Amino acid sequence: MRRAILQALLPVCYLGIGASLVVHLLALVAGRTVPNSIVLLLHGGIFVVAIPTILVLRRITDATRPKDLWKLLKTANPSWLRWLSSVGAVYFVVVFVVFAMTHQGRDPGGGRMSRETLVMFSSGWLGFYTGLSTYLYAGLRVDSRQWRCPNGHAVYPSSRYCEECGRPVAARGKVNGA
Ligand SMILES: [Zn+2]
Repeated sequence: MRRAILQALLPVCYLGIGASLVVHLLALVAGRTVPNSIVLLLHGGIFVVAIPTILVLRRITDATRPKDLWKLLKTANPSWLRWLSSVGAVYFVVVFVVFAMTHQGRDPGGGRMSRETLVMFSSGWLGFYTGLSTYLYAGLRVDSRQWRCPNGHAVYPSSRYCEECGRPVAARGKVNGA
């Protein structure tokens, strides 16, 4: 079930990345704006992906040990994906700072955002969707790898003891799959 949720969300996330990129390039390079309905859709899409992703990952990591989630993200994602999401985050911050320093509230009206606002928002979407894809990817990797107790029962990565047989779960090496 958890896996099905993550698997369903991943294409939505990729769609978000693609659409954000298109809107971003349109605004940045071509100077074009898009209707506010598309803006709302891409805004809303972040919550549609983020909320279930966070809920599912909290179940996986048991919510009590945030370190687990961090370890998970570091080890479960291919380095290019982590690199991409870092670039996305830094890019958003840079665009946001430039926007904040240069934008003088010149929204054109007519139900559309200004080009500058759109550049700023779309870089934010890019950052969020790329970041979320690393979480989704990590969640899927975890479920397919199945942390196990010495007796072979499935356990959460943060579990110290197996919920079925009570045996202690070796803490080390689990995340690395060693
Ligand atoms: Zn067990």
